[in-house]
Amino acid sequence: MISKDIMLGAPVWLATAPPPPATRPVAGPVETRVAVIGAGILGLSTALALAQSGVDTVVLEAAGIGAGASGASGGQVIPGLRFDPGELARVWGAAAGRRAWRFGMETADAAFALIRREGLDCHAEQRGWIQASDTDHGLAEARRRVDLCRQAGQDATLLDRDAIVAKIGSTAYRGGWLHRSGGTVNPLALTRALARAALAAGARVHTDSPAIALRRDGSGWAIATPAGRVTAPSVLVATNALTGGLWPPLARAILPVWSFQVATSPLPEPVRARVLTSGACVSDTRRVLRYFRLDPAGRLVVGGKGTAAAPRRPAQFALQERTMQRLFPFLGALAVTHRWGGQVAIVPGRLPSAHLLAPGLWAAIGCNGKGVAWCLAFGSRLAEAIAGGGPGVLPIPLTPVAPIPFHRLRRLYVAAAAAWLRARDRLDGTGSAGHGGRAKA
Ligand SMILES: Cc1cc2nc3c(=O)[nH]c(=O)nc-3n(C[C@H](O)[C@H](O)[C@H](O)COP(=O)(O)OP(=O)(O)OC[C@H]3O[C@@H](n4cnc5c(N)ncnc54)[C@H](O)[C@@H]3O)c2cc1C
Repeated sequence: MISKDIMLGAPVWLATAPPPPATRPVAGPVETRVAVIGAGILGLSTALALAQSGVDTVVLEAAGIGAGASGASGGQVIPGLRFDPGELARVWGAAAGRRAWRFGMETADAAFALIRREGLDCHAEQRGWIQASDTDHGLAEARRRVDLCRQAGQDATLLDRDAIVAKIGSTAYRGGWLHRSGGTVNPLALTRALARAALAAGARVHTDSPAIALRRDGSGWAIATPAGRVTAPSVLVATNALTGGLWPPLARAILPVWSFQVATSPLPEPVRARVLTSGACVSDTRRVLRYFRLDPAGRLVVGGKGTAAAPRRPAQFALQERTMQRLFPFLGALAVTHRWGGQVAIVPGRLPSAHLLAPGLWAAIGCNGKGVAWCLAFGSRLAEAIAGGGPGVLPIPLTPVAPIPFHRLRRLYVAAAAAWLRARDRLDGTGSAGHGGRAKA
């Protein structure tokens, strides 16, 4: 069930995001070349690219612009996929693995280039992303990643303990690495700006228009909404963790997992001078990872694993508030002004996926916790593929949808997995990652 509110608790981004463009529900019969279901970053960046290349496009959004993860996220623009080229090669084959890795590592630059080109008003700052660690394995991983990036001509730096303490202002980590292409945005502002750009390019964007049925219609597709019917030869399902009963096998292929965030009042000057002075955003390599950044007003925004269900009480954010105090014990009694959550779509392979569910019916999900950069960069490729370029133009191979066995037990899976990961973090002693560096989720 999708809430009509933007989020259960209002994200800090709402206060400073420019208002959304005026949109209304779809009404009556509408014909188009491509129908996009879902107005998050993925649906809208695809719609923008389609409209700009002259393809008639209609976007249907169940609630408001950015109502899903896109408007609730931490707004960290992080390059890369979860795995290295060798690991990707084992999943997708050598050539496809290399191609996907390179595309992934270039997504943050591509995202900021799109933001600049389209003048997307979203408080974008490209001041780097740090992956912080406190185990031997995590540090070895950081060295390997820096080597890989440098071999590919990218700007990555290994951080020893002194360097990471200087950049983050926390003594919680022994080191890590910095990729300079990363950065931050106001994610709700970004999603609304994408909608404005897509409208300006000629796309029709309809909010409060849940797709409630999706059926074959001749050689194309018909989508029913409460007050309308949209027909199109091609459809993109971009519903992420909120994928419901529209295409049941797709919903069964993901585990929706809550991630919660808290934001403080703007840090007072002496404290601000000690926190995240480099301006980079940070996620760590814990299995149950933590991520944090400052917003332009100097509020500290800290996120991590949420509870199994939607947040209802401030006490459910105790983990994030404890994390904040552990990372920065000198914060003192700082007011937490915002607490909110959103759902990340986790897929078992922990890699983004693209599917051709049936002729003309595309879907892309599972960018896990790195979707801001990925979705912005991937949208234009998806648009090219849908507009006639075919799957070959995508940076990742199309894969069949793989429903998770006993998906109805998903709450149990998620709870058991979280307990297991927490226990392994504890076994590591310091609570940090093992193999592979953990992606955001
Ligand atoms: C709390 C949190 C923090 C995160 N932090 C970061 C971060 O810092 N950096 C990062 O890179 N990633 C982060 N992520 C992940 C990132 O936000 C997502 O990967 C990305 O936003 C996914 O975008 P999307 O467009 O695929 O999906 P969404 O933004 O979820 O959009 C899907 C849309 O589909 C709509 N929809 C669903 N069903 C229907 C229907 N039947 N009809 C019509 N519309 C429908 C929904 O209302 C929704 O608006 C975070 C996620 C969460 C939840």
